[in-house]
Amino acid sequence: MINKILIANRGEIALRVLRACRELGIKTVAVHSPADRNLKHVLLSDEAICIGPNDSNKSYLSIPLIISACGMTNADAVHPGYGFLAENEDFAEQLEQSGFTFIGPPASVIATMGNKIEAKKTMGKYGVPTVPGSESALPEDENEIKAIANKIGYPVLIKAASGGGGRGMAIVQEEEDLIQAIQMTKSEARVAFGDDNVYMEKYLENPRHIEVQILADKHGNVIHLGERDCSMQRRHQKVIEESPAVNIDEQSKKEVLEVCVEASRKLKYVGAGTFEFLYEKGKFYFIEMNTRIQVEHPVTEMVTGIDIVKEMLRIANGEKLKYKQNDVYFRGHAIECRINAEDPDTFTASPGKIDFLHFPGGNGIRVDSHIYDGYIVPPYYDSLIAKLIAHSTTRNSAISKMSHALDEILISGIKTNVPLHKSLILDNVFKESNYNIHYLTQKLKNKLEQ
Ligand code: ADP
Repeated sequence: MINKILIANRGEIALRVLRACRELGIKTVAVHSPADRNLKHVLLSDEAICIGPNDSNKSYLSIPLIISACGMTNADAVHPGYGFLAENEDFAEQLEQSGFTFIGPPASVIATMGNKIEAKKTMGKYGVPTVPGSESALPEDENEIKAIANKIGYPVLIKAASGGGGRGMAIVQEEEDLIQAIQMTKSEARVAFGDDNVYMEKYLENPRHIEVQILADKHGNVIHLGERDCSMQRRHQKVIEESPAVNIDEQSKKEVLEVCVEASRKLKYVGAGTFEFLYEKGKFYFIEMNTRIQVEHPVTEMVTGIDIVKEMLRIANGEKLKYKQNDVYFRGHAIECRINAEDPDTFTASPGKIDFLHFPGGNGIRVDSHIYDGYIVPPYYDSLIAKLIAHSTTRNSAISKMSHALDEILISGIKTNVPLHKSLILDNVFKESNYNIHYLTQKLKNKLEQ
């Protein structure tokens, strides 16, 4: 039985996990850095431990310190949230070996999916359609590399096998740039991910990013919770997400949802997971799997009414899934705007003290956020400060709700990207659902040129 959970994260997701624990009567332990002493979940948790300095390498990313904190507080399990150690197989394994439950899939599954080359190979084997590309890490020989690129056809994308967060990617339009792009991606990957293996993929020119949420228990039961469209991106990072994805070929969607459930079963997946696809000209192409809760999970929760974090906790406790596929109903449409502490024009981070805060509310509006009046946004971590979610019967009315909710938000003392969201939500191309992964970059470029 899980009685106490250590939350190995910070910010809004740590608060999200704490709330789920409370609903299920599970005690909580918060771990934090000095700058995070006044985070909302730290103040609300049953116990809190400072585990190290502000540098996340020495605190939130320190496996021994987190395991010690589990031991000191007699925690039974750890929820890793997203980012930090959430997809670190060593963390999952060392926790289990130390007698604590890792809330997520087995370490071996994290390892397979954490290497994007292995992930694609495995998915291919299980019948999931993947982006055409090299079948393994790129060789040393330049001629061999050029032959691979020619076979795939330009433009190609060089990707780090261990990449994440939209980093470790380079687009190559023609052969003369190929070798240099590979060298650059390799050195970036070595520094950022400690692994310089790179692979090559066909660069899809006008795709949408569509992903499938699944839940799997330890008894072999798997369900999907539909899909999300996360095509509104800047630098490969999601800005707005929505569920369901509209203007998708119904038959292909049905097939891809089923294939994800089947692949999860074959993978012996456990917990919440997301299959990420690019969708172009009616076809889905798998790019990677995230073996953790995702930032954008609330849009799925709003349309299905299923609390994904609570399900993760129940699954970790060995319980069977509460829902069969036929119990999952999809109601209406939900949109999420990621509110970041950043300059809306230059995108530079804007940490500092929040002098005044007013969040919107009302029917169908949800705000997942850790910030409050007087809270100081530290400069050391991710700039996400709130997620604003609007849910309504139709996409148009969700857009209308979101637009009014954005007008109601007041955050002063720091800069935020609320103005960007206001312009995006009223953008005709967004309204008509006519956007792909390049739309936002293009829109921002056009604005600069005006
Ligand atoms: P990360 O793990 O860094 O998030 P992903 O593989 O999920 O990397 O890709 C992130 C984003 O990069 C995608 O949502 C998409 O916008 C873009 N991308 C990835 N692969 C391709 C591809 N083959 N063609 C075009 N865009 C791609």
